[in-house]
Amino acid sequence: MTAQQTQIEINLPNLRNNLNFLRSKLNSKTMIMAVVKALSYGADSKIISKELELQNIDYLAVAYLDEGIELRESGIMTPILVLHPQLNDFNKIFKYELEPSIYSFRILKEFTTSLVRHSKNNYPFQIKFNTGLNRLGFAQNDISDLIFLLKNLRPTFLFSHLGASEDSQQTSFTLDQIKKFNQISTVFEDKIGSTIKKHILNTSGILNYAEYQFDMVRCGIGLYGFGNDSKYTDFLRPILSLKTVISQINKIKKGESIGYNKGFVASKPTKSATLPIGHADGISRLYGKGKGKVFINGAFAKILGNVCMDMLMVDVTDIKCKEGDQVIIFDDTNFSAQEFASSIETISYEILTALSTRIKRIVIS
Ligand SMILES: *Cc1c(COP(=O)(O)O)cnc(C)c1O
Repeated sequence: MTAQQTQIEINLPNLRNNLNFLRSKLNSKTMIMAVVKALSYGADSKIISKELELQNIDYLAVAYLDEGIELRESGIMTPILVLHPQLNDFNKIFKYELEPSIYSFRILKEFTTSLVRHSKNNYPFQIKFNTGLNRLGFAQNDISDLIFLLKNLRPTFLFSHLGASEDSQQTSFTLDQIKKFNQISTVFEDKIGSTIKKHILNTSGILNYAEYQFDMVRCGIGLYGFGNDSKYTDFLRPILSLKTVISQINKIKKGESIGYNKGFVASKPTKSATLPIGHADGISRLYGKGKGKVFINGAFAKILGNVCMDMLMVDVTDIKCKEGDQVIIFDDTNFSAQEFASSIETISYEILTALSTRIKRIVIS
């Protein structure tokens, strides 16, 4: 096999498969919000959002304002929740018709004064409650003040976020979060005298706690092919493959070193292959010194010495290969991003979102 360069392949059939699998876990009326923050977990949020829009996704979510603007500017029409708006964002939130998550009194005050400034007496927004993650959100005893400050404004949704939905050791923590969310929602709805739609489940929430799907679920990693448990590998298919190419092969004599700081010293004659991908592309230095491995012509090759900024070297002493051969860093069949990430004790989320925009993205439709 040959390859020309380092590239990320975005597999849209796999994305559709994953969406359908997640849909199969839900009631037909439950809405799905696709979380497309951080380039859709390292893919390309415009390409992914466009495909999801074709698949009738109900909502999109981004972390920050600029991610939402980019989608609007590329013609995405689906409602977009901004999970973590900042104080100065509201002019643009209105301009680009984005839906802010209101998570604190500081943000609420800026939101309501911005509404007045823009002469808007209504605008879609959602309210986030903290039920145990202790990251963002209002607390239960904020509800009275919150409703007072909201006056006639009504959120489209109430939501919260689970902190350990993937962890079967933490079911009581998760169920407690869900119980708190139910209590908070009930108090809120009683005080305003009407019901409001709700959501709390992320991917692992859908897989492990589907009975608490409420009106919508928020799905990130599952769409991209990971279910936080190996039992889903038959159903969820990674959408990203990271491939590169052998640039050069070197024969190293016993006693010679490879790479910066003599990160590897050969104790026997060694054949190394230099690959055009480095820590600037998202391959952390932690993968160096034999921890990480890549897949070449059906065999694994360990990373030798330190990962450089733009290159890394791997051990191909026992692998039949030549310059120009294709190298798989991870893909949907041989070696998953989750397996690659676990070699340095991290998770798929981190390796995927670290992938630099310098790497060319290629769409497989
Ligand atoms: C990132 C994020 C999600 C998506 O979680 P996955 O585990 O990737 O499905 C959902 N909700 C919030 C608030 C998030 O920040």
